[in-house]
Amino acid sequence: MKEKISVIVPCYNEEEALPYFYDAIINTAEQMNDFDFEFIFVNDGSKDRTLELSKQLAKKDHRVKYVSFSRNFGKEAAIYAGLENSTGDYCVLMDADLQDPPALLPEMMEAIQKEGYDSAATRRVTRKGEPPIRSFFARMFYRIINKISDADIVDGARDYRLMKRDMVNTILDMKEYNRFSKGIFGWIGYDTKWIEFENVERVAGETKWSFWKLFKYSLEGITAFSIAPLQIASIFGILFSLVAFVMIIVIIIRTLVFGDPVSGWPSLVCIIMLIGGVQLLSIGILGQYLSKTYLETKKRPIYIAKETNVEVKE
Ligand code: UDP
Ligand code: MG
Repeated sequence: MKEKISVIVPCYNEEEALPYFYDAIINTAEQMNDFDFEFIFVNDGSKDRTLELSKQLAKKDHRVKYVSFSRNFGKEAAIYAGLENSTGDYCVLMDADLQDPPALLPEMMEAIQKEGYDSAATRRVTRKGEPPIRSFFARMFYRIINKISDADIVDGARDYRLMKRDMVNTILDMKEYNRFSKGIFGWIGYDTKWIEFENVERVAGETKWSFWKLFKYSLEGITAFSIAPLQIASIFGILFSLVAFVMIIVIIIRTLVFGDPVSGWPSLVCIIMLIGGVQLLSIGILGQYLSKTYLETKKRPIYIAKETNVEVKE
């Protein structure tokens, strides 16, 4: 029997890109004819005709599966849903916009089958076609998160990744609600081969990530995989207490020696503002973690599927 590859495609308003994607992926599937394929389109609450298109494809090609969410749950949830509904011996995550070139798939497969890796992942070495400010913040993010967390997160890493079934099952066992896949992939270990490629611009449609969305996503990554911000808050606390203690002694002595206890009002205001700021920052950091814990303890489902043609697994 042939082994099966599940291609998982999160789609959010991808009606323009989907036909191109489907053509490209069946092309690759034809080349890799020693494998069976299944294509899982996860419709992440699109407001356009993405779902209709997936249904049409499913009608003419029995390998096409779709899972449609009741609303937009985000790409992370779509990835989880795709993996959960997959049946292949291997799973590959791919964007619908052809920024993850399907042509790399044979090379990725070779890394797993011939070189014995558990997964083959891709990273782009250029950020061509991206606003410079976005690239700058992306670089900063990777530098910071790698310093402060155990998860090994590679700069320029895409979610485009081929994995063996064991690794997929391990990921599915991580049922956290606040998901940050790039971190999860690194955190669980397993041997990964990194394949590099030049950035490709999306074939049609528009990016779903605004700068603000990306910024929030990066905070998500930091709070999900590191407690360094909490430690920084504690260190600030200790530091400020020490400085305050020294200042109290200095002021007491100065008052005793020179009198004049009233002077120094401006500096006092500055100090109060500074300490107030640091306190609010620390409370804010604490709040970030608390809110994550709060959402986690509710144990809400990661996604809600409204429609699907995937048969329920026993
Ligand atoms: N996506 C999704 N849900 C979202 C946002 C994006 O499923 O809320 C999908 C999108 O359809 C695409 C992939 O995630 O297949 C990557 O999105 P996009 O190309 O907009 O991101 P970029 O490549 O610009 O980082
Ligand atoms: Mg894209």
